[in-house]
Amino acid sequence: MSERDGILPGLVRGLATTARSLTRHTHTAEYPDVSPALPPRSRGVIALTEENCTSCMLCARECPDWCIYIDSHKEELPPTTPGGRARQRNMLDRFAIDFSLCMYCGICIEVCPFDALHWSPEFEYAEVDIRDLLHERDRLGAWMATVPPPPALDPGSAVPAEVTAAAKPKRPAPAGAAPAARARPARPARTEGGGTPARPPRPRREAPTRELPVTPPVDATQVIPVTPPAPEAGPGTPDAGGPAPRLQPGEGGE
Ligand code: SF4
Ligand code: SF4
Repeated sequence: MSERDGILPGLVRGLATTARSLTRHTHTAEYPDVSPALPPRSRGVIALTEENCTSCMLCARECPDWCIYIDSHKEELPPTTPGGRARQRNMLDRFAIDFSLCMYCGICIEVCPFDALHWSPEFEYAEVDIRDLLHERDRLGAWMATVPPPPALDPGSAVPAEVTAAAKPKRPAPAGAAPAARARPARPARTEGGGTPARPPRPRREAPTRELPVTPPVDATQVIPVTPPAPEAGPGTPDAGGPAPRLQPGEGGE
């Protein structure tokens, strides 16, 4: 094969490949000029809804890398009803995640019982210094704006139990049933020393008055007839009464 025969076909094939590539959709994104189109459930970074967090520490305990740091304190809330008890509530002081240790396993998001942690597809949080990858609750909270809404249910899928329960009308009380709740008298407030105040004395109950039947007085002069007791009947009882005479041997028996 001559040199000329080899160059021309190769040149044509090369030009054809270039022309084909020019008309095809490119897969390379010119980042950062063009942002990549990521799937909505990408594990970019963990976002925090601070209002939902109860400082239960479940996420920090379950994190295999121990890279979640939580500080909290207890606060006493006043009772909501007169005479009710004051309640205690955990107040979040610090919530931080060290993303230089995080391995994006998602366990913290799975175990959170109050939906306080979410995946965000945001990934542009690179830092020059690795120590700056420890992000506090303000930064974690700001990422909530990038969390996509939950995906729609598949067509034909069952309605979630929470939605069904919320839409259920309340059952009417059956006729003749006792009232659901009785109004309870308010409890006396506790004294300053924490002790229970002395109860007020109960009112004394008066004994019920009953009318007893009145027996008429007995007249002493009145003669009451006394009936003699009847003699006991037996096999040897004579007609005139009294015990029967004992017979000696040879007497009677004609
Ligand atoms: S994703 Fe995994 S490693 Fe990262 S903070 Fe959550 S539990 Fe820890
Ligand atoms: S598991 Fe959820 S509610 Fe509990 S401390 Fe972690 S983020 Fe807060």
